[in-house]
Order: sequence, then C-alpha cells, then structure tokens
Amino acid sequence: MTQVHESGAVANQSNLGSNEHMAMVSQYSAHNYEPLPVVISRGEGSWVWDVEGNKYLDCLSAYSALNFGHSHEGILEAFIDQARKLTLTSRAFQNDQFGPFCEEITKFTGMDMVLPMNTGAEAVETAIKTTRKWGYKVKGVEHDKAQIICCTGNFHGRTTTVISFSDDPQTKDGFGPFTPGFPLVEYGSIDALQAAITPNTVGFLFEPIQGEGGVVVPPDGFLKQVREICTKNNILMIDDEVQTGLGRTGRRFAVDHEDVKPDIIIMGKALGGGVMPVSGIVASKEILGVFNPGDHGSTFGGNPLACAVARKAIKTLVEDDLAGQSDTKGQAFREKLRAANCSKIKEVRGKGLLIGIEMTEEAGAAKPWCKKLMAEGMLCKDTVENVMRIAPPLNISEADLDWALERIINVLQ
Ligand SMILES: *Cc1c(COP(=O)(O)O)cnc(C)c1O
Repeated sequence: MTQVHESGAVANQSNLGSNEHMAMVSQYSAHNYEPLPVVISRGEGSWVWDVEGNKYLDCLSAYSALNFGHSHEGILEAFIDQARKLTLTSRAFQNDQFGPFCEEITKFTGMDMVLPMNTGAEAVETAIKTTRKWGYKVKGVEHDKAQIICCTGNFHGRTTTVISFSDDPQTKDGFGPFTPGFPLVEYGSIDALQAAITPNTVGFLFEPIQGEGGVVVPPDGFLKQVREICTKNNILMIDDEVQTGLGRTGRRFAVDHEDVKPDIIIMGKALGGGVMPVSGIVASKEILGVFNPGDHGSTFGGNPLACAVARKAIKTLVEDDLAGQSDTKGQAFREKLRAANCSKIKEVRGKGLLIGIEMTEEAGAAKPWCKKLMAEGMLCKDTVENVMRIAPPLNISEADLDWALERIINVLQ
C-alpha cells in the first residue's frame, strides 16, 4: 500500500499500531471529526510518518496552519528558546516579547494596533466585538441595533456567535438559539452587498477566498468594489485572512491581489508557525482605540511563547519570500493539472498554494478520492462534498509538488 519504512525505529515509540490508536480515539473522544485513517507520529518539512513508519506528503498543512512545514528549524528554535525563558505571564503583567511582537506585526500589516488572541474563532469574535463597539461609539448606531453583513457559504469558526451566521445546516443543527445581527448576502455579489446595507450596518465580514466553502474565488475586482462600498457607507471592511493570510494565496494577504487595505485583518492558523495557536486582529488606532481596560481579553492572548513564535513566523515569511514561492508554485501546479485534462476533474481553481479541485458529477464526492490518494502516499482533504483542497506547506520543494501532481493525475485520470 503505502511507502517505505524509512524511520520505523523513530516512529513507533508507544508500540501501538494505527488500528489500536484509532480504536482508542473512537472509544474515548467525541466523534466531532471523521479523520482519514492515518495515525501520524512524526513530521519534517512537507512529509509526515505514521506509527508504522509509512511516509506521506502533507497536502493539507493543517488547514494552512503549517505554511512553514513541519518542524521548521528556525521556528522550533524560537519556540524552544522562548519556552526555556518564559511562557506565560497573562496580560495582568507585561512581558518582553509582547511589545516587539506588536510593533512587528503592525508594521508587517501596515496597521496601527493589534489585539492578540489564540484561535481563529476567537479572533473573529474579537473583530465582531470591535466592529460593534466602533459602530456604537464612533459611527453612532443606536444601542443593540448594529448589523454586520456576512456571506453565504462562509466559514469563520465554531463558536456559538460565529455559527449564528453560517448557512450550513449541519454547523447549526442543535446549537440554537443564535446571536442576531448578521444578515447574509450572496458571496461575490456587489449588488447583494449594496442592497443589504442599512443605517445600522457597521461592518462587512468576508473571506477573500472561501477556504472551507470549497476554495471559492470571488470575481475579479470584487475586493476593490467592497472597499469602495464600505468607505462610501462608513462600514468596516473586515477581512478574515485566518486561512488565506501569511502567503497562502501567493501574496502576504489575499486582499493584496487587488491592492486593497481592509479596516480589520483577522489572522490565525499560520501565525502560530505550526507549533501553537496564535491569532489576532490588526486595525487602525481609531478602530482598536475603542477598547478600554476590562472590555475584552484572553488569559493566553499575547503570551510570550506565542509572541516569540509569531515574530519568527513573520520574519521567515518575509525572508524566505514564501508568498512569492506560493504564487509561482501554485500557478505552475494549476497549469499542469489543467493541461492533464483528467476525466474526473470539472474545475481547478484557487490562488497560490490554496488549490481547489472540483470533481465532475460522475466522479462524485471528493472524500473517496482523498482516500485513494492516501494509499498512494499523499494526504489531502475534501472541503465541500465535491471539492478536494490541495494546500501543501509553502516551502514544499518543486520535486515534491510534481510528485503530488503525478499521483493526482494517476488517480483522477
Ligand atoms: C479555520 C478558520 C477560522 C477558525 O479558526 P480556528 O483556529 O479553527 O478557530 C476562521 N476563519 C477562517 C477563514 C478559517 O479558515
């Protein structure tokens, strides 16, 4: 079935086989996921090894949290160095990593201020709270009337408020009552956005490419038009770059494809360098200035270990030009895959190394094809039912990417 036993000795320290691990998970863990049947025990660069020592190419990168690959030397070093010095103070005290992190991330994003959190969903919640408070304090919207427009097909995380504006029935089933104040408009439609704006609208929350929605790229010019409409109507343009940010789409941020500056950028996933959860939002002083001590917070947000890792992640992104690498490699990959004219593929889309492969109706759901690819030594994941997402680490070698391409073409031919 799978690959060589390159490192069996290192891999199977616990002496449990994959089946035993999967049985434990099935018995003792809530069944809120249905993972591929592979139990990984080691990762290096773009490759991972299972407990039996089989080797796989990681073409999911933990939903883009592993933009730098597994066990990135520099990031691991920053992580371990900082872990030996200081890991947590809470924001009740200051720490010597937080200030430099704030300066570096605001300069990197061209914004004035940052508010750090841990997970993507928390950062989205933070953007919502910021936008609402801005709406009341700065825009002058009547108490408790603020509306933030969201998009059909969106994915912004799993908290109760965030799922309140999902339009995926399973995401919401059994979790009501929901938070009000989030009208939905069709993703990619400027007319729909324009029509939904009222005097109580305070923000428009969107993904510049919908990742979980099936790698949906909006029409050219959409982001520019969103910027214009938001400015004209005095509403905040809230850009969720948790998945698309930090080089994934071939630019530092996906909005850079249209040279657009949003009011709030939400970051997460890759910001933690693949070693820990780090998230946050950046915005202008006028917007993040709405907060006073005690308004909002997080015990782990801005912790020194997270700050040291995020600083190194940003530095690595810039120094290694990972956005540029992602752009070139992604474009070549899509061109080659389209040229192969695979009979099971309806469409190949995406930007940079965020790639969606939509299956033909005949080929059906993407998941069985992901399982076939797993048997060939390649790990990837369906997003919506009929779309396979290919999103390897941005520093993947061209040879490895070609290797993946060969497998995909063989399986989908
Ligand atoms: C993954 C994701 C989130 C949520 O991040 P978590 O860390 O899983 O809470 C939010 N927005 C987008 C666009 C995402 O892809």
